[in-house]
Amino acid sequence: MEQLKKYIRSVPDFPKPGINFYDVTTLFQNPVGFNLALDGMEEYVRSRKADKIVAIEARGFILGAALADRLNIGLVPARKPGKLPWRTITEEYSLEYGTDRLQMHADAVQPGERVVIVDDLIATGGTLGAACKLVEQLGGKVVGISSVIGLNFLPYRQRLAGYDLHHLIAYDSE
Ligand code: AMP
Repeated sequence: MEQLKKYIRSVPDFPKPGINFYDVTTLFQNPVGFNLALDGMEEYVRSRKADKIVAIEARGFILGAALADRLNIGLVPARKPGKLPWRTITEEYSLEYGTDRLQMHADAVQPGERVVIVDDLIATGGTLGAACKLVEQLGGKVVGISSVIGLNFLPYRQRLAGYDLHHLIAYDSE
């Protein structure tokens, strides 16, 4: 999967100085690269015997939708506050500065359902941790977390301890 790196654009100092942004739009643009990434994630989600995928806004939606269709399982969006039209549940999580919130529809996961959560990249694990809590609030079981990229120089493994973590490629330094 190391070859996926050639499809990912790295943008220095975005969205602020000192952050190296891993841009997966160049991966999505390339049918060979996108297909390869989906093959890897599909194999993982299948191995976890997931009933549903929860996808994180916004790049997670692109991956999650394609995977849910390949696997013929349901797709649930986890969204920024105020976007979902019906009754929602909310989790707050901490960022480097301040907090953010993530929401899901209150009927999106049924008790006992096996869920894999999908996003493009795991950084601090804050967003994915909030998504795990949303699934668990509804009685679902988080059987895995899958992303294209893992930033191994950030402490997401501690934050997501106890969950089965999967990524296709990793970066070890900024
Ligand atoms: P975190 O909650 O810190 O794990 O951040 C994960 C979310 O922020 C994901 O939805 C990523 O898409 C985005 N993100 C964080 N850091 C980066 C980065 N260096 N490059 C691209 N996306 C990032």
